Amino acid sequence: MANASRLPLRCWAEIDLAALERNLHLIRASLPAHMRYVAVVKADAYGHGLHQTAARLMHAGADLFGVANLAEAAAIRELSPDWPILLLSPLLPDEDRHVIEYDVAATVSSAEEVARLDFTGLAAGRKVTVHLKIDTGMGRLGIWHEEAPALYQKIRDSKNLRLAGVFTHFSSPDTDAAFTSEQRRRFLAALQKCDGLDLSTLFVHADNSAGLESIAVAGPFNAVRIGLLQFGILPHTGSLLSQVQAEPVFSFRTRVGLVKRLPVGTGVSYGSTHILHRDSTVAILTAGYGDGLPRAASNRGHVLIRGQRCPVLGRVTMDQTIVDVTDIPDVCAGDETVLIGRQQGAEISLTEFSRWADTIPWETLCSVTKRVTRLYRTPLGL
Ligand SMILES: *Cc1c(COP(=O)(O)O)cnc(C)c1O
Repeated sequence: MANASRLPLRCWAEIDLAALERNLHLIRASLPAHMRYVAVVKADAYGHGLHQTAARLMHAGADLFGVANLAEAAAIRELSPDWPILLLSPLLPDEDRHVIEYDVAATVSSAEEVARLDFTGLAAGRKVTVHLKIDTGMGRLGIWHEEAPALYQKIRDSKNLRLAGVFTHFSSPDTDAAFTSEQRRRFLAALQKCDGLDLSTLFVHADNSAGLESIAVAGPFNAVRIGLLQFGILPHTGSLLSQVQAEPVFSFRTRVGLVKRLPVGTGVSYGSTHILHRDSTVAILTAGYGDGLPRAASNRGHVLIRGQRCPVLGRVTMDQTIVDVTDIPDVCAGDETVLIGRQQGAEISLTEFSRWADTIPWETLCSVTKRVTRLYRTPLGL
């Protein structure tokens, strides 16, 4: 039988699990010892692959997983019945009963959700675990902060709910320190008005990767929710964050499929948006937007071949991309090409790559498609 998994790879991502583990330890070491670590692994662990990533993060000491939907929770349950999971998105009404099935903590933002989940717990004969989310100015999930004490009382009065955490989310921790402080103040003020709330028994969390820049080490906060930073990408160049010497976990690679000479004046790729200004040697790469190399990088991006930067010529196409290798001797079909990562001392960072596409590292990682094989480096036990 044919076995496609034995074929050479044309475009792949390498995931360095040992770097992921080191990053978690570095982030932890930069925080007070009592801070718990919520490992955010939504969107297939930011494109790194949920199973491998979650298993290594738990091995490295994560306390709780943050996921975006129940399918992601179910994927973690395939690894272990015990690892705690928090669903960071709202539950659809017809999903309610599955929080029991997968033993997932739900995020609640409204009286309607509290009533629904209380009923779900009653019907199942088991308490449903919830985290109360408070909207302090993000305008997305959470009960508006001024209404949070009333919702807390409803949770307290619901016999079939168990409150395990309270949290909020910052809208601009990377760009607006004053508003982030205001959000913290609103959160703490709301908690103070919750009669009978014992924070010492709860996860109290607000900060994502960017929030670490201004994390309030005093006060009741006792957990952080980390996504991007654990993958070795700094969300901005804040001074505190830069001290966490996290290394990139992800690299993105393809190969040269064809090398050819083209005469000056040739228009390259669809629409001839690039006209060669000299006789050129071009390399045709075996990756395109069908793999996650964004079309917006047309005439803009670079790749590394033999440790040297080569500009993208013309439009990125679905399966192929053309780059200029005129100044690089001996490029041949089969040569490994770096789209994101390091080669012979040169580097294209995920952040730089994202800029070519006018996007952010989070979106770039989510845009690497299913066609791209993930190769895991340094798994445990080797
Ligand atoms: C995705 C997400 C995070 C993680 O954000 P990063 O910026 O990647 O660290 C934290 N909290 C919530 C609620 C999220 O949805």
